[in-house]
Amino acid sequence: MSSKFTRYPGTEITKEEARAGTYIITRYETELKYAWSSGAAISKFLGGLRDGELWGRKCRGCRRTMVPPRMYCEVCFRPTDEWVRLGDTGRVVTYSVSYVNADASRREREEPILVAVVEIDGASPMMGMLHLLGEVSPEEVAVGMKVKAVWKPQGERQGAITDIRYFRPFRRGVQQG
Ligand SMILES: [Zn+2]
Repeated sequence: MSSKFTRYPGTEITKEEARAGTYIITRYETELKYAWSSGAAISKFLGGLRDGELWGRKCRGCRRTMVPPRMYCEVCFRPTDEWVRLGDTGRVVTYSVSYVNADASRREREEPILVAVVEIDGASPMMGMLHLLGEVSPEEVAVGMKVKAVWKPQGERQGAITDIRYFRPFRRGVQQG
Protein backbone atom coordinates (compact mmCIF):
# COMPACT_ATOMS: atom_id res chain seq x y z
CA MET A 1 0.00 0.00 0.00
CA SER A 2 1.22 3.48 -0.82
CA SER A 3 1.97 5.66 2.19
CA LYS A 4 -0.17 8.35 0.52
CA PHE A 5 -3.31 6.35 1.37
CA THR A 6 -4.38 6.88 4.92
CA ARG A 7 -7.77 5.21 4.55
CA TYR A 8 -9.67 3.17 1.97
CA PRO A 9 -12.83 4.58 0.39
CA GLY A 10 -16.04 2.61 0.78
CA THR A 11 -17.60 0.76 3.68
CA GLU A 12 -16.15 -2.39 5.19
CA ILE A 13 -18.49 -5.38 5.38
CA THR A 14 -18.28 -6.97 8.81
CA LYS A 15 -18.45 -10.73 9.49
CA GLU A 16 -21.73 -10.21 11.30
CA GLU A 17 -23.29 -8.46 8.28
CA ALA A 18 -22.06 -11.24 5.98
CA ARG A 19 -23.52 -13.96 8.24
CA ALA A 20 -26.81 -12.08 8.58
CA GLY A 21 -27.22 -11.99 4.78
CA THR A 22 -27.23 -8.21 4.65
CA TYR A 23 -25.41 -8.39 1.32
CA ILE A 24 -25.61 -10.80 -1.60
CA ILE A 25 -22.57 -13.08 -1.54
CA THR A 26 -21.58 -15.09 -4.62
CA ARG A 27 -19.12 -17.96 -4.34
CA TYR A 28 -16.80 -18.39 -7.30
CA GLU A 29 -14.21 -21.10 -7.85
CA THR A 30 -11.49 -20.06 -10.25
CA GLU A 31 -10.18 -22.57 -12.73
CA LEU A 32 -6.57 -21.63 -13.15
CA LYS A 33 -4.63 -22.79 -16.17
CA TYR A 34 -0.96 -22.27 -16.68
CA ALA A 35 1.09 -22.12 -19.84
CA TRP A 36 4.68 -21.24 -20.41
CA SER A 37 6.92 -20.95 -23.41
CA SER A 38 9.51 -23.68 -23.82
CA GLY A 39 11.82 -21.19 -25.53
CA ALA A 40 13.80 -21.41 -28.79
CA ALA A 41 16.22 -24.15 -27.72
CA ILE A 42 13.82 -26.56 -26.03
CA SER A 43 11.14 -25.98 -28.71
CA LYS A 44 13.59 -27.19 -31.35
CA PHE A 45 14.61 -30.10 -29.10
CA LEU A 46 11.01 -31.19 -28.48
CA GLY A 47 10.12 -30.82 -32.17
CA GLY A 48 13.10 -33.02 -32.94
CA LEU A 49 11.86 -35.70 -30.55
CA ARG A 50 8.51 -35.68 -32.36
CA ASP A 51 10.43 -36.24 -35.62
CA GLY A 52 12.60 -38.96 -34.09
CA GLU A 53 15.72 -36.78 -33.99
CA LEU A 54 17.99 -35.48 -31.25
CA TRP A 55 19.35 -31.95 -31.61
CA GLY A 56 22.14 -30.24 -29.71
CA ARG A 57 23.54 -26.76 -29.74
CA LYS A 58 27.21 -25.97 -30.31
CA CYS A 59 29.24 -23.14 -28.79
CA ARG A 60 32.29 -22.13 -30.86
CA GLY A 61 33.83 -20.49 -27.81
CA CYS A 62 34.32 -23.62 -25.70
CA ARG A 63 33.64 -26.07 -28.58
CA ARG A 64 31.04 -27.90 -26.54
CA THR A 65 27.92 -29.42 -28.07
CA MET A 66 25.17 -29.26 -25.50
CA VAL A 67 22.15 -31.49 -25.10
CA PRO A 68 19.54 -30.61 -24.06
CA PRO A 69 20.35 -27.54 -26.16
CA ARG A 70 20.60 -24.01 -24.84
CA MET A 71 20.83 -20.71 -26.65
CA TYR A 72 23.35 -19.26 -24.22
CA CYS A 73 26.65 -20.74 -23.06
CA GLU A 74 27.05 -20.56 -19.30
CA VAL A 75 30.81 -21.15 -19.61
CA CYS A 76 31.61 -18.49 -22.23
CA PHE A 77 28.82 -16.03 -21.31
CA ARG A 78 27.85 -15.70 -24.97
CA PRO A 79 25.12 -16.97 -27.31
CA THR A 80 25.65 -20.46 -28.71
CA ASP A 81 26.23 -20.70 -32.46
CA GLU A 82 24.72 -23.61 -34.34
CA TRP A 83 22.40 -26.59 -34.31
CA VAL A 84 23.96 -30.04 -34.44
CA ARG A 85 22.03 -33.20 -35.30
CA LEU A 86 23.04 -35.87 -32.81
CA GLY A 87 22.84 -39.62 -32.96
CA ASP A 88 20.18 -41.50 -31.03
CA THR A 89 22.87 -43.68 -29.52
CA GLY A 90 24.99 -43.08 -26.48
CA ARG A 91 26.69 -44.47 -23.42
CA VAL A 92 25.49 -45.17 -19.89
CA VAL A 93 27.29 -42.75 -17.55
CA THR A 94 25.55 -43.85 -14.39
CA TYR A 95 22.44 -45.81 -13.54
CA SER A 96 20.14 -46.76 -10.74
CA VAL A 97 18.10 -49.91 -10.10
CA SER A 98 14.89 -48.39 -8.80
CA TYR A 99 11.98 -49.96 -6.98
CA VAL A 100 10.27 -46.56 -6.89
CA ASN A 101 8.05 -45.73 -9.86
CA ALA A 102 9.01 -43.05 -12.39
CA ASP A 103 6.30 -40.76 -10.97
CA ALA A 104 7.90 -41.20 -7.52
CA SER A 105 4.89 -43.10 -6.18
CA ARG A 106 5.92 -45.48 -3.44
CA ARG A 107 3.80 -48.41 -4.57
CA GLU A 108 6.29 -51.23 -4.51
CA ARG A 109 7.35 -52.67 -7.80
CA GLU A 110 7.90 -56.40 -8.32
CA GLU A 111 10.46 -55.69 -11.01
CA PRO A 112 12.74 -52.67 -10.76
CA ILE A 113 13.01 -49.96 -13.41
CA LEU A 114 16.48 -49.04 -14.63
CA VAL A 115 17.12 -45.30 -14.70
CA ALA A 116 20.29 -44.03 -16.37
CA VAL A 117 22.12 -40.90 -17.40
CA VAL A 118 22.89 -41.45 -21.08
CA GLU A 119 25.67 -39.47 -22.72
CA ILE A 120 24.48 -38.85 -26.30
CA ASP A 121 26.78 -39.57 -29.26
CA GLY A 122 27.74 -36.37 -31.07
CA ALA A 123 27.41 -34.24 -27.94
CA SER A 124 30.26 -33.31 -25.61
CA PRO A 125 31.31 -35.58 -22.76
CA MET A 126 28.83 -35.63 -19.88
CA MET A 127 26.11 -34.08 -22.08
CA GLY A 128 23.03 -36.23 -22.14
CA MET A 129 19.82 -37.06 -20.48
CA LEU A 130 18.17 -39.03 -17.74
CA HIS A 131 16.06 -41.83 -19.17
CA LEU A 132 14.94 -45.41 -18.74
CA LEU A 133 16.83 -48.48 -19.90
CA GLY A 134 15.01 -51.44 -21.39
CA GLU A 135 15.69 -54.89 -22.82
CA VAL A 136 18.43 -55.29 -20.21
CA SER A 137 18.47 -56.81 -16.73
CA PRO A 138 19.94 -55.18 -13.61
CA GLU A 139 22.69 -57.82 -13.73
CA GLU A 140 23.62 -56.94 -17.32
CA VAL A 141 23.62 -53.15 -17.14
CA ALA A 142 27.01 -51.48 -16.77
CA VAL A 143 28.57 -48.04 -16.81
CA GLY A 144 29.97 -47.44 -20.29
CA MET A 145 27.40 -49.70 -21.97
CA LYS A 146 26.47 -48.53 -25.48
CA VAL A 147 22.76 -47.89 -25.85
CA LYS A 148 20.31 -46.81 -28.55
CA ALA A 149 16.96 -45.03 -28.28
CA VAL A 150 13.79 -47.06 -28.78
CA TRP A 151 11.28 -44.59 -30.20
CA LYS A 152 7.52 -44.64 -30.07
CA PRO A 153 5.92 -45.07 -33.51
CA GLN A 154 5.81 -41.79 -35.45
CA GLY A 155 2.06 -41.31 -35.05
CA GLU A 156 2.28 -41.62 -31.26
CA ARG A 157 5.09 -39.11 -30.76
CA GLN A 158 4.04 -35.74 -29.38
CA GLY A 159 7.19 -33.71 -28.83
CA ALA A 160 8.06 -35.01 -25.38
CA ILE A 161 11.01 -36.83 -23.82
CA THR A 162 8.68 -39.84 -23.53
CA ASP A 163 8.74 -40.06 -27.36
CA ILE A 164 11.77 -42.17 -26.56
CA ARG A 165 10.41 -45.21 -24.73
CA TYR A 166 13.80 -46.21 -23.34
CA PHE A 167 17.37 -46.89 -24.36
CA ARG A 168 18.42 -50.47 -25.08
CA PRO A 169 21.86 -52.08 -25.33
CA PHE A 170 23.42 -51.51 -28.72
CA ARG A 171 26.59 -52.59 -30.44
CA ARG A 172 27.39 -50.74 -33.62
CA GLY A 173 27.33 -53.03 -36.65
CA VAL A 174 25.76 -55.90 -34.73
CA GLN A 175 22.28 -54.63 -33.86
CA GLN A 176 20.81 -52.13 -36.29
CA GLY A 177 17.45 -50.42 -36.27
ZN1 LIG B 1 30.91 -21.89 -24.65
